[in-house]
Amino acid sequence: MLLNVPTLVAVDLYVVTLVGVLMAFAWHSGRRDPTLGYMSAMLLLAALSTLLIGLRSVGLIGVSIILGNMVMMLCCAMLWTSMRVFAGRSPHWPGIGAGALVWLLLCLWPAFYQSMPARIMVNSAATSLYCLLAAFELWRSRRQLEVSLRPTLVLLLFHASFYSVRLFLDRGTPFAIPDGPGATFFAVLVFETMLIAVGLAFTTLTMVRDRAELKLRSAALSDPLTGIGNRRAFMESGERLLRLCAERDETVALLVCDLDNFKRLNDAFGHPAGDQALMEFSRITASRMRRQDVFGRIGGEEFACLLAEAGTEAACQVAERIRREFAELPFIADGMLSVSIGVATSAEAGHDLARLLALADQALYLAKSRGRNRIERSTPRPGAEGRSRG
Ligand code: GH3
Ligand code: MG
Ligand code: MG
Repeated sequence: MLLNVPTLVAVDLYVVTLVGVLMAFAWHSGRRDPTLGYMSAMLLLAALSTLLIGLRSVGLIGVSIILGNMVMMLCCAMLWTSMRVFAGRSPHWPGIGAGALVWLLLCLWPAFYQSMPARIMVNSAATSLYCLLAAFELWRSRRQLEVSLRPTLVLLLFHASFYSVRLFLDRGTPFAIPDGPGATFFAVLVFETMLIAVGLAFTTLTMVRDRAELKLRSAALSDPLTGIGNRRAFMESGERLLRLCAERDETVALLVCDLDNFKRLNDAFGHPAGDQALMEFSRITASRMRRQDVFGRIGGEEFACLLAEAGTEAACQVAERIRREFAELPFIADGMLSVSIGVATSAEAGHDLARLLALADQALYLAKSRGRNRIERSTPRPGAEGRSRG
């Protein structure tokens, strides 16, 4: 394959500028994630540096060597910053300027300025370093980021490796001599850099989009007041847990909890006090759940807990601890906080969420009618249907 350097450079300029401009649009019109802003800056600086370095061919050697490479250092620093910002940290301005500044200072030293191998060595080392820093930013935050980082990491590590190899192999050929020895290496370099820039733009856009979708989805599934899952989340996760337990032939228990006389509490102490009680109840109950259990706010002052691998006795013990701990909470006035809990298990209802809810609801109704602040378990009555929920 014949890679003609001037043609490649022209294509590189066109493609990278175009992707940079499109990235700026994506940044501006979307959720304005700064990751895309820095990625756009990276691409546009990459195109500018190619242009400036190319000015060597019209005799502007100083501009090519000094300015072209300084812009390239800034471009690499923007790549690092883009990943850093994506991982939730702020830009590190001294680090951003360091590469360009070191390059400028080195160029004041004639031995360096006149030695192409020395310049290639420093340029390659800095590119590799910034790429490794970018990969490190993603790697150290991989647990919080919750989206697939692998494609971006692969590209970053490939680029870092490529420039590390260049450190040892490339002794430099000015690209003004298109067919001189080493021109092929330079062509491969331009080609690789262009593909990596476009590839990184694509994988970054994907990461940003995936994260935005994840945020939207989790907002749609969580209760803003208590931070726990809402009714929809409970039903989805509950169905999943029930399917799993049915496959393993394990008993599951459901607690339906309804705070007592909550309307009275709201009327007496105001809505903020009611909200506080709801948050306290969520906190207490969540602390009683195991990893595999499902807990959610299924109505105004109604909560449900699906306990994996739990029979009636175990479920009643958990319910009793929750009931007692909630009733003993210090609150504005004594005796204001209490909860009634209905318990049903798959032994009576099968692994069917609607039926479990109906039976637990019946038990809850019984607890209310027997004076509140108590726990009742459902009585197995074959064929019985629960009262409809309002
Ligand atoms: P019972 O003991 O029979 O359950 O009586 P209750 O007063 O708890 O039940 P009722 O259904 O009459 O009233 C529930 C109240 O819960 C009414 C509603 O204003 C209140 N509520 C629902 N959601 C919220 C909320 O997010 N914050 C506050 N503060 N109150 C809420
Ligand atoms: Mg209620
Ligand atoms: Mg109530």
